[in-house]
Parts: sequence; C-alpha cells; structure tokens
Amino acid sequence: MSRAIQAIRGMNDLLPDVLGLWQRVEQCAAGTLRAYGYREIRLPLLEKTELYVRSIGQVTDIVEKEMYTFDDRNGESLSLRPEGTAGCVRAGIENGLLHNQIQRLWYAGPMFRHERPQRGRYRQFHQIGVEAFGMSGPELDAELILMSARLWRELDVHDVALQINSLGTPDCRARYRKLLVDYFEAHRSVLDEDSLRRLQTNPLRILDSKNPALQGVIEHAPSLVDHLDAESAGHFARLCALLDDAGVKYAVNPRLVRGLDYYTRTVFEWVSAALGAQATVCAGGRYDGLVEQLGGRATPAAGFALGMERLVEILVEQKSLACTGVPQLYLVLLGEVAQRRGALLAERLRDDGLFVECDAAGGSLKSQLRRADRSGAAYAVLIGDAELSAGLVSIKALRVDEVQEQISELNLAQVLKQRLAR
Ligand code: ATP
Ligand code: MG
Repeated sequence: MSRAIQAIRGMNDLLPDVLGLWQRVEQCAAGTLRAYGYREIRLPLLEKTELYVRSIGQVTDIVEKEMYTFDDRNGESLSLRPEGTAGCVRAGIENGLLHNQIQRLWYAGPMFRHERPQRGRYRQFHQIGVEAFGMSGPELDAELILMSARLWRELDVHDVALQINSLGTPDCRARYRKLLVDYFEAHRSVLDEDSLRRLQTNPLRILDSKNPALQGVIEHAPSLVDHLDAESAGHFARLCALLDDAGVKYAVNPRLVRGLDYYTRTVFEWVSAALGAQATVCAGGRYDGLVEQLGGRATPAAGFALGMERLVEILVEQKSLACTGVPQLYLVLLGEVAQRRGALLAERLRDDGLFVECDAAGGSLKSQLRRADRSGAAYAVLIGDAELSAGLVSIKALRVDEVQEQISELNLAQVLKQRLAR
C-alpha cells in the first residue's frame, strides 16, 4: 500500500457527526438575519491581493504574514480571502449596490489565514459575516449587536459576554496614537520584541498584546475613550443608551482595538469563557472610511463576523447536541416481504415529515439492532413478515426506557410523532 496523503495543516475536514450542529447554526443564523432585513450575497474566494492591502492595512498581522498569496498564470498577485468585508465592499461598489442606498447583506463561507494552528485557530476557518451600508447612526451599531444577541438566544448559547469600545475618527485616533507612542517610549524597557516593532508600525495593537509581562504597563496606558472627539463620544454614549434600553449587558473595554485598520468609532466583540485562549466568537464594528478608501463614494458602514468553528465548539461544550443530523427512526427489516415493503414504508414515513434510515444491509435482528443503535436514531421500527401480513409493526425506543409495543402500521407515523415530541 502506498503512503496515504494527508490534508494541509490547519485545514480540517468537517465530518458528518458535527455537521448537524453546523447546519443548525447556519439555518438559525439565516432565519435571524432575515428577520432584520439582511439578504445573502455570495462572493469569490479569491481576490486581487491589492484589495486586502488597501483595506485591511499593510502593517496588520493579516497582510504582513497570514495571507495565502500567489501569482496566477498571468503573473497577477491573488490572495485567498482572509476575511469577507473587503470583498463585500468591492462587490458593492462594482455592482452599484452602495451609492445612495441602504444595504443589509450577509455571507457565509471559508476564510484563509496562515496562522499557527491550535484550538479555535485554523488556516481554513468559516465565518458568517454581516455588513450594512448607508447608515451612520449608532442605531445601526445597536441593531447589529441586538441581532447577534438574538442569535445566541435562538441557539441557546449562554455565557457569552459583550465588550465594546470606540476607536473614534481617524483624526482623533492619529492624535491618540501620538500620546500612546510617547507613553510606550517612556516604558520602552519593559516592551517585548513584538511590541517594539508595533511601536513603529501599529502602536494601538500593543494594547491587544497577550504577553502577561506587559499587562501592567498596558493597564496604565492612556485610554482612547478619554480622548474621543465630541461627535464620536456622543455616538458612543448613544450606543450605550440604546443597549441599556434593550437590556443588553456589556462591558466597555478600552483595550479592544481589533486587528484590522479600517475600523472607526464602534468596535465590539462577543467573548466566551468556554473557548480557552481563542475566546472571541464574534467581532465587528463600524468602518465609515472603507468604501471611499476602496474607490467608492463615501458611505458609512458597519458589520461583524462570527467564527463558525468557535461557535460550534461552544455548543459542543454546552452539550447542545440536539439535532445533530441523526435519523429519528431506523427501520429493521426481517424477512423477504419486509425487505421489499420496507423501502415503501420508509417513503410514506418521510412523506409524513419523519427522518428515516432504512436498513439495507440485512442480517439477523441482533445485527440490525446494533446498526440501529449506532445510527443514533431514537426509535427502531421492527418489521417482520408475519406481523406485516396482519398490518402490525413494533416500535422499540433506543435511547429511553419504554416497553416495546406492537401497533397498527396505519397509526405508525402518528404514534411516533407523539413519542418524539415527548
Ligand atoms: P483573533 O483575535 O482570535 O485572532 P481576529 O480579530 O483575527 O481574531 P476577525 O478577523 O475579527 O478575528 O474574525 C472574526 C471572527 O472569526 C473571530 O472572532 C473568530 O471567531 C473567527 N476567527 C478569526 N480567525 C480565525 C482562525 N484562524 N480560526 C478560526 N476562527 C477564526
Ligand atoms: Mg487574528
């Protein structure tokens, strides 16, 4: 036998056992987003590298070292998308969706970043992203946050906490940046190599450092919320009031800066204690300058992206394993007539809306029941030649303690539905 080929590091197969949860999240998200007027958009996985350099920023981690970039056969530099906002804005401008319009859009799919693979961090991962254009007020920021909060409720995700911050306008951020550089220059001796580099390129990101040795100096650094321009401060105060009105709890985290350059004013993250070091399950904010930066007319915008792998992991941790894609019923077919009629009976049960797996491998009662058990089904329906000629079948609960019962074939769907609803 020759050596088996393995997948690329950090790029995972998603196996059927976990995909039931993925589908549940996807369906739930599609429903929730629709309830707020968001419509789906599908975008290419490859874009010109320049798009990401111009939007995410040259000196960000993503563009500096995480992109899958290559020259195609025409010598043009292309990159696998590391995130969805840039492509969405590009498509919005190109298709005339943004100018003088309100757009609420969402997309879902894989993103690619060459990071060090670890729990909650992969090289191919999946996001559901949401982008809204043409609305400048904090009401939109609140809508995005309320919408994500509703999704957690629908999915029964608990223990996620909201952190918010404001990054102000580019002008006030530039002023704050000077303050911050002065402050960190004065504490140069305690900075690590990464932070010293960032001091030149992207000093705000030092605030985001996870190095325990830096936490003291970071804690005492000047805070951007204290240096906001009046309009940004007003925007932030109004957002806080809207969240208070809606009963959404949040913490203001002055060190929340986000890794992408394009954010302005509101930024937020939903963080879960169930996830270990990679704790952020959903992150976003306002990016009023990006559309113009990418060649469109100035258009206010805001959005967020949630990490599917991390969200599914929370559900697994919470043991919310309902609806994992297993069948409700497994048909055990004993005898020639039963085998012939089994498939038709299964069809009728499916017409009645039930999820049915029909044995097709044959064998003894014992071996078919073993397969029924492995399928994860809640009930086995036992169909034998003799009973069938009398119009009878037996139902056997596989996960709970219930006596096996013989019932009329005609009542089967109804009885099973009642049992499954219990
Ligand atoms: P982190 O701080 O964890 O690196 P980020 O700020 O780079 O996250 P964003 O670009 O804002 O992340 O992406 C939004 C969400 O996508 C994250 O909150 C996370 O849930 C998910 N995500 C980002 N990178 C990865 C990855 N490499 N693997 C799995 N999920 C990811
Ligand atoms: Mg990252």
